[in-house]
Order: sequence, then C-alpha cells, then structure tokens
Amino acid sequence: MSTIESVLKETRSFAPIDAFRQNATLSGMEAYNTVCERANNDYEGFWADLARELLSWHKPFTRTFDGSNAPFFKWFDDGLLNVSYNCLDRHLDQHGDKTAIIFESDDGQSTPISYRSLYEQVCQFANGLKKLGVEKGDRVVIYMPMTVQAVIAMQACARIGAIHSVVFGGFSAGALRDRIIDAGAKIVITANEGMRGGKTVPLKATVDEALDAGGCDSVEKVIVQKRTAGNTPMGARDIGWDELTAGLPLDCEPTWVEADHPLFILYTSGSTGKPKGIQHSSAGYLLGAANSFRWAFDYKPDDVFWCTADVGWITGHTYICYGPLAMGATQVVFEGVPTYPDASRFWSMIERHKVTTFYTAPTAIRSLIKLGADLPKQFDLSSLRLLGTVGEPINPEAWMWYYEVVGGGRCPIVDTWWQTETGSAMIAPMPGAVATKPGSCTLPLPGIMADIVDESGAPVELGNGGFLVIKRPFPSLVRTIWNDADRFRKTYFPDEFNGQYYLAGDSAHRDEDGYFWIMGRIDDVLNVSGHRLGTMEIESALVANPLVAEAAVVGKPHEVKGEAVVAFVVLKGPRPTGEEARKIAAELKSWVAHEIGKIAQPDDIRFGENLPKTRSGKIMRRLLRSIAKGEEITQDTSTLENPQILDQLQEPA
Ligand code: ATP
Ligand code: MG
Repeated sequence: MSTIESVLKETRSFAPIDAFRQNATLSGMEAYNTVCERANNDYEGFWADLARELLSWHKPFTRTFDGSNAPFFKWFDDGLLNVSYNCLDRHLDQHGDKTAIIFESDDGQSTPISYRSLYEQVCQFANGLKKLGVEKGDRVVIYMPMTVQAVIAMQACARIGAIHSVVFGGFSAGALRDRIIDAGAKIVITANEGMRGGKTVPLKATVDEALDAGGCDSVEKVIVQKRTAGNTPMGARDIGWDELTAGLPLDCEPTWVEADHPLFILYTSGSTGKPKGIQHSSAGYLLGAANSFRWAFDYKPDDVFWCTADVGWITGHTYICYGPLAMGATQVVFEGVPTYPDASRFWSMIERHKVTTFYTAPTAIRSLIKLGADLPKQFDLSSLRLLGTVGEPINPEAWMWYYEVVGGGRCPIVDTWWQTETGSAMIAPMPGAVATKPGSCTLPLPGIMADIVDESGAPVELGNGGFLVIKRPFPSLVRTIWNDADRFRKTYFPDEFNGQYYLAGDSAHRDEDGYFWIMGRIDDVLNVSGHRLGTMEIESALVANPLVAEAAVVGKPHEVKGEAVVAFVVLKGPRPTGEEARKIAAELKSWVAHEIGKIAQPDDIRFGENLPKTRSGKIMRRLLRSIAKGEEITQDTSTLENPQILDQLQEPA
C-alpha cells in the first residue's frame, strides 16, 4: 500500500462572518449537513429533485440514473430539454430587461446586454447556422476572442443541438487544426482579429493556416465576425457574421434534445499530456453548472458576478456561458488581460461595475501580487462579498493576500477544486457554512462523494495522502472522450479501482476536520528517501518566503535518495544571476528545511522570469521534469504559452 506524506503545516481557519452567514442560501453547518445527509440517504432522489427544481424540461424524465453500461453512465435519459431555452427563454417573461452581460472590451468600453437582447442575438445567429445547413449533432469549432459573440455562438449551437468545441483564441494553427480534425467540425466560427492588451490577435489568419495545412475536409464554412477595423481577406469558404444573419428572424424554435445529447466537446488544457476531447451532456452538465453556481457562489439575484476565465476553458463554459445564464444572473464578460492598460485593471473594473462575486485563478493572483501588492487599496472594493479561485492549488500566502487585501477580511474565499471532466465545482466551501483554511478546497458540495484512496482503492487514514476519487457518478461528469471510449475507461475508471470510482488524477490528503488538501497531480508525487511528497506543499513553503512570487517543484533521479527535489523559482524582484543567485538559492534551501524539514529541501534551485505555463495559466511540470533531468524536450508543447522561458530555466543557480 502506498500513501503520500503531508508536510504542510497550515493551522489558520476562518469561519464565515455573521453578516454573510445570516444571508446565505445554505446558512450554517447544520444546514449543510442536512443537505449532505439527504444526498447520502437518497442519492438519486436528491439529484432528481434538483433537476426538477433548477431545469425546465420539454418532456419530463422518468428515469433518473442508468448505470447498466458503466462507466458510460446516463442521467435523466428519457427527458427532453434545450440548454439555450434554460439559459434565455425562461427568463424573458419576468426578467427580459435584466442585464445578462456587462461586456467590457479590451480598450475599456462597457456595454450592458439585457436577457432579451441576448436571446434575440442568439436566435438570429442560430438561424444563420441553420441556413448553412448545421443540424443537430454537427460539430462547430469556435475560435473567438473573449467577446459576447463567443457566448452567442455557443448558445446558438446549444439552441439547435449542434455540438460546440471552443478552442482558446491563443492556440496556434497546429493546435487548432488537431482539434478541428479530431472533432470533425463542419463549421468554424472566428473573428477577423481579437484584441488583447492593446494588441491585435490574427484569428482569421490562423484559421486559414490551420485549414490550408490540409486534413480538415469536414469544414464547409468559416463564419467571420468583424471585431476590429483590420482588413482581413475573405475567401470562398468564408462568410461574414453580419452578412449571414442580416434580416434573419429574432426568434428560433429551440431543438429539443435528449438529456444526454452532447452539448459540447472541450479539450483539456494538456498539463499532463495530449489533450483529451471531453464530451459533456446537456441536462446533467447544465444541472451541475447551475446548482454549483448557486451554491458555491451563494448566488443572489442582485449579484454582479465576474469570472475572469476565457470561454476557451471549462471555467468559462460553466461559470460564464452556462451556470450564470441558467440562473438568470448578471455578469461581467471581459475581453482583455489583467495587466492592460496597467496592473490595476481588475481592481478598477470591480469598482466600476460594483462586482459582488469575483472568480479568478491562483496564477493571476500571484502575478498581481508581484506587480503591485498594494494596488487594490487604491480602489473601492466594498461591493465584493465573495472571492473564488480555481485552476491550481492556491498557496496559503497568496490566499491570505486575496483574503485580506482584496476581500478586506470580509469575503469568504471559495477555493473550488474541479476539472474539465467534472463539468462543475466538486470540492469547495459552502460559503455560508464551511469555515475556510488557506490552501484547502475544504469539503465536497452536497451530493459529491469525494474520497481519498490508496492504490488498491481502499480508503487511506486521515492525514495520509492518496488518490482523489469520486465514488459515485454524478450528473455533470464527462460522458466519454470524443472518439476514444477506450482511453476514457482506462484513464478515469481503471481496473485497479474495480472500474467503480472516478479517478481524478490528483493526489490529496484530508486533515482531522475532514478537509481536502490537493497535493498535486498523481504524476507529480516525489519519492525522496522513501518519503512520498506532493509538489504543492514544497511550492507553498517557497511562496511563503517574502522574496518569492511563484515556484514549481519537480523531482530528478538521485543515486542515494531515489529522487531529489528541484525547484524553479520566480522572485518578486528581478531574476538573479551569478553570485547573487547562488546566495538566494542557499537562503531558500535553508528556508524550506526550516519550514517543512530537511527531506523537502531542494538540491537544486533555478531562477526564471516566469515558469512554463499552459495557456490557461497552469504550470507545466512535465516540461520542468525534463529540464531537471537535463533531457531534451520532446513532448507536446502545443499548449505552452511561453516556450522562450525554457532556456532560462536550464541554467543552474
Ligand atoms: P490535462 O488533463 O490535459 O493534463 P488539466 O488537468 O490541466 O489538463 P483542467 O481540467 O483545466 O486541465 O484542470 C483540472 C486540474 O486543475 C485538476 O485536476 C487539478 O490538478 C487542478 N485544479 C483545478 N482547481 C484546483 C483547485 N482549486 N485546487 C487545486 N488544484 C486544482
Ligand atoms: Mg486533467
């Protein structure tokens, strides 16, 4: 039996403040426990009730769950519904004039869009897709900037039962082409150019490059939105967005689809290997999105929600395009980047739009600390009542800064652990009930049977690390990997776990209060002198040093210890070299030895101006492992944001 040791010592804890708890949807631990018990005692009834309460059905389902063809599970499978109807039509009677989206463009203009207007634009564009012959089940690749049109394109696909696959607008032609081919897309939707940080992004030109490289024979048409004044050549397979939709009706009968009809395919970010085409359902996915949005963010109808993710990632799907709209919320959609025109962009937007609920990633938080830890104090952030994070473990020091400086000690920090595959947040504090601890995603949402097991699938003792699993299928779980059912079963429901548990691929441990602490990817566990250590804890110790902005830790083979710790570090100040680098490296080694013990002390520390990250902002440790070993990098780097950083990190301090 093998477990993973935890070396992180974090004892701070923050109960929800009274004012928050009193107004919360789920207020106090008793309320939380009651809902969890209900889910435990009558699992299917629990989800069936939620599916009736939160979703509007064209034809009600009579079967809640079908596990007969495990692990290809079905939920609500004889029901019919339409996702876009649930996100738009059903709000019109009562809330047609409510603002659905406050769009802020890269250059700072903001435009409110009401639910009615969004509905009309979605319908009109859906009619355009139909005119091009798009039918239920056809795949549509969306390669767009972070604009309202991206949301409209996704919703329009949902409206007619087409399956969208959004590809992040920063991906190269090669990465785009791979996804177009894998999905067998009939249509590509793009913009002539995007705008990010004051610069144009040549989207249409990249689509042309991808298609002209060959192999994309499935593609019949490219729809091009004119986002900028730039002059973009149009060819025979291209059609302008406005030209396509001109004069088309502003309503469009939704196509009713089966509950498990695929809503979208989304390729994972590729932190650990070749991206997988994650296929999500319509009803189960939407239920997870809507319900977790309501619970984890304690949604109130007058909230102004802002999720800073791009729609190219699952976070942007679930907490921009689907969850908030299903609940009839008002949200900010932002085209630009946090550092343009300067590093106070986020804080200024929160002040101007009176954002109540702000959801971002640890990588953004760490870089904003580096760029101006005191900047938030120059803005009125008093509208905020809840702060969320997602994407990576948040180091306790970054958490504390978020809590104190951004949230004024008033806002619960909702650290949401989930994945492209889970579709919606799985482990996160119910903010009116669960006390938070910096660096822990705390407890599962009611109905999510998360646990930690060893290699044989047996539960580990509290305090020991192991494999994070979810023991029962839940509605928003991935249905399969597009074109690769075999990889789906092997990756997520391996035989070692009797094919029963959903294996998340992360390692974690639980503390004495049952709180979950994510320790890193399974692949990232280090084995130092017989101690199995998660990378995240050593990284957090490094980030707790006042000099350090960001750190990534990997192992390299060592004759005596088995593995030695190698740390890649970004300082808050400039990148040190020569003697200074050696001095700081020595200081950081003894810091780690002192903070968590000698076994975790890095043998080797490398400094960079940044770390290699996926385009979704996650550190790519698999590349760092090759660098640490002195290997040539031969792996898939198509999803890497900043390849030039790899050279710096090859130099030892
Ligand atoms: P790939 O599966 O291709 O390697 P990926 O796992 O990076 O890509 P995502 O589905 O976007 O793609 O990311 C999910 C992963 O992100 C989780 O498995 C986990 O490792 C990490 N993660 C997300 N949220 C949190 C969180 N709150 N705390 C810790 N880790 C998190
Ligand atoms: Mg993953």
